[in-house]
Amino acid sequence: MPANILVVEDEPAIQELIAINLEYAGHSVLRAHDAEQATQMVREVLPDVVLLDWMLPGQSGLAFARRLREDERTRDIPIIMLTARGTEADKIAGLESGADDYITKPFSPREMVARIKAVLRRRSPQLTEEPVEVGGLRLDPGTHRVSADSAQLDLGPTEFRLLHFMMTHPERVHSRTQLLDQVWGDHVFVEERTVDVHIRRLRKSLEPSGHDRLIQTVRGSGYRLAATN
Ligand code: CA
Repeated sequence: MPANILVVEDEPAIQELIAINLEYAGHSVLRAHDAEQATQMVREVLPDVVLLDWMLPGQSGLAFARRLREDERTRDIPIIMLTARGTEADKIAGLESGADDYITKPFSPREMVARIKAVLRRRSPQLTEEPVEVGGLRLDPGTHRVSADSAQLDLGPTEFRLLHFMMTHPERVHSRTQLLDQVWGDHVFVEERTVDVHIRRLRKSLEPSGHDRLIQTVRGSGYRLAATN
């Protein structure tokens, strides 16, 4: 399950160690040495996971985690806090700030990779290879197939990713910006109109089985995939 991981760590040796291990595990790594640099990076590309050091120069990791949680665009990014602190009170503060998990330094790279995998499986099902089924529609990321009952449906690659994301997050309203971030990985240079074009194509591909009705337009907000047909 390769992911884009943002590592926010001010100590160069630790940052390097983390990055090497994550890249070795097949992930793409973005590196920031403080919250300010991380904020700039997140503004451009939404990472799949943030690995965040607690003790940073300037704004603390804890404050940065809170800021990510307050912003609609970034509130769902899984966050793993990295810290030398290990007391119960610190763990609670970290989890209350919106962190999904907590790793205490020193940690083994293998443990870190395993924790990331667990968080991704829990929070970002669209990155896994698990087949999903909603309202009689079945999507298998492993074989890249979409079927309704026993009939295969023919989808383009973008429509496939779009459907995969929406099926793993049913009933939620996604703005065009969120869909661009999640499906295209870019909300800056791709026009919002692009989303509408691909939603239209997706509906057309789902028409033969009547599953186009699952894709609902939420006026003024975006799109939603209904959990039942
Ligand atoms: Ca530090």
